[in-house]
Amino acid sequence: MKSRPGQSAPFRARSLVLLVVTALAALAPLPRWAIERWYSNGFYAAIQPAITFVSNNVPFALFDALLISVSAAFVVIGARDLFGSSKLRGTARILARTAVWGAALYLALLVVWGFNYRRERLADRLPFDASAVNQAAVARLASAAVERLNALHPLAHAEGWTRASVVDPSLAGAFERVLRLTGASGRVVAGRPKHTIFDWYFRRAGVSGMIDPYFLESLVAGDLLPVERPFVIAHEWGHLAGLADEGEANVVGWFVCLQATPASQYSGWLFMTRRRSARCPPPTAWPWHPASALVRAPTCVPSAIASRPV
Ligand SMILES: [Zn+2]
Repeated sequence: MKSRPGQSAPFRARSLVLLVVTALAALAPLPRWAIERWYSNGFYAAIQPAITFVSNNVPFALFDALLISVSAAFVVIGARDLFGSSKLRGTARILARTAVWGAALYLALLVVWGFNYRRERLADRLPFDASAVNQAAVARLASAAVERLNALHPLAHAEGWTRASVVDPSLAGAFERVLRLTGASGRVVAGRPKHTIFDWYFRRAGVSGMIDPYFLESLVAGDLLPVERPFVIAHEWGHLAGLADEGEANVVGWFVCLQATPASQYSGWLFMTRRRSARCPPPTAWPWHPASALVRAPTCVPSAIASRPV
């Protein structure tokens, strides 16, 4: 379709404004305290419950629908550009559209969730003694993890595991309580676990889950073992609470599991066992190596768990 005179100039002006605003949003040195106060505990805290409530009531991943529709539109319009005018002009339009659409998607991601990357760290907001993190503490934690796994094994397996696609009320209640402990004031709606068309990639890349930064959904891998699921879901809920940092989401996810049912506690301690054993130095460096205690655990840690980053 040929543009009429006067239509392209406003479009170019709007595109230019979008590119400039996106560049400013990406590069402007916004202070962490301002993000914490006005974005994470202000705008984001206000929109998250509504967005996740809506996406929870859709049976499929809205993230998939967004990516499929944007990709299809991009291909169709790009093909029209290439075959409707000269190759050079068509290519230039595709490149310009790539920049504009990319900027729009990036800006939307930043506004809906991404500014949480720049909020204050959890360790700066809560009492934290860095000197307490030492080898002896790690060894005690590893030992406690193995003891808890042994104690919880019969209870957890007798209780059974929550279905993959529902919000576990016990885990959601624990999530609320743990958020209060971190100083969160507003309510965070827990995301219903969903699978995605990217499951094939998740399985092969060893990805356990992610949150959808546009519709604030909890997307989890289809091959998660039941024992893995509570911790992975609680971890993704940590992201929904505005904790962008992986370590912070792990901490919150772990505490959430420990506040929930024995099955969820088992999942949390299983995660901690893997983490602690991965952080411990080789046996020759220590007179006693906590990993050796793992053999006492009544359940083996499948290699799928051991190799998968969360
Ligand atoms: Zn994560």
